[in-house]
Amino acid sequence: MRERVEREIEKLKELNLYRDLKDIESPPGKKLRIGKVELLNFSSNDYLGLAKEYDCECLRKWGAGSGASRLICGNFKVHRDLEKELAKIKRCQDSLLFSTGYMANLGVISTLAEEKDLILSDELNHASIIDGCRLSKAEKVIYPHKDYSFVKEFLKKNRHKYRDCFIITDSVFSMDGDIAPLDELFKVKDEFGCVLIVDDAHATGVIGYSSLELFGLEPDENTVIVGTLGKALGTFGAFVSGSSQLREYLINRCRTFIYTTALPPFIACQTLKNLEKVKGRMEELKEKISFFREFTKIESESAIFPLIVEDEATALRLSNYLFERGFFVPAIRPPTVKKSRLRITITWEHTKEELKQLWSAIDGFMKGGRAPEI
Ligand SMILES: *Cc1c(COP(=O)(O)O)cnc(C)c1O
Repeated sequence: MRERVEREIEKLKELNLYRDLKDIESPPGKKLRIGKVELLNFSSNDYLGLAKEYDCECLRKWGAGSGASRLICGNFKVHRDLEKELAKIKRCQDSLLFSTGYMANLGVISTLAEEKDLILSDELNHASIIDGCRLSKAEKVIYPHKDYSFVKEFLKKNRHKYRDCFIITDSVFSMDGDIAPLDELFKVKDEFGCVLIVDDAHATGVIGYSSLELFGLEPDENTVIVGTLGKALGTFGAFVSGSSQLREYLINRCRTFIYTTALPPFIACQTLKNLEKVKGRMEELKEKISFFREFTKIESESAIFPLIVEDEATALRLSNYLFERGFFVPAIRPPTVKKSRLRITITWEHTKEELKQLWSAIDGFMKGGRAPEI
């Protein structure tokens, strides 16, 4: 094995696809300290700047761990309180907490979509959705990005061959920041009797409490919303919102819910505290998003701004160039995305001045500012 792995690592380095981890010495937030360098962070999903905030009361009351899975003795009242609050913001009957969004998607998809069923999944969906589809025994069709006429055509011809049908999409796509037109998807779902599973990871607390709000849609019994706590909500973990029956079913059948340690209750407690701060900060973030979009002309409807560059090497050079000038904007390369890019995320913490500074540094590179060869 050793030689094969060594060869693979060499190959990644040659292709400019090698990755490594940077040890950050400061708490999460807009300023990061790596070694002696301090950087302005434009890569975080901590959209509302909540990740470094804490209330000691939560830790004092609940301790740091959870002791067991929810079904054994790891289910605390504060989990339930949070689930009810999350259901409220998603305008659903109920919700169920998961330990991560990755596990929520894996679990909900593979539990609901079984043999004889059909899954239609957007080609740019998050890796956890892709893996959830892989784990499911349903038939899978990956449709071109937001191409709902493709979805309709397929369903017209083939819907009758399947029992249940699931359409799965990110609401805010994580690498491009664009939004799925859920109003169109709702029509398809209703016309063909499908269930719509929406992943709100980058939407919750950024474009609204729920992506459905944006389109004036109300969730019904055929709507499932996956949300995460580790992004705008500032803590860790995830949840699935839908009908009370869905919650009941997942508790009984979903393996990624059943066979894992419960989210520590203090995290549920902290998330409840954070929820109180969401509304105000979200409005302020939206204003910053419009401001940044106007002067960069990067098309994005969320806090994620993709700056597409010609190749992996340019992405790395630009990222290094910005690093040397005090900006942390990592290069995102294949296989995470098809086209290499810098993925800029802006947060509630950034000032308009800082947003301008980043853009003028990028401008410097584009106008031939010398990037270090690597
Ligand atoms: C981050 C993310 C997830 C995974 O959530 P975690 O809690 O980080 O595991 C799932 N879906 C999308 C679209 C995401 O961006």
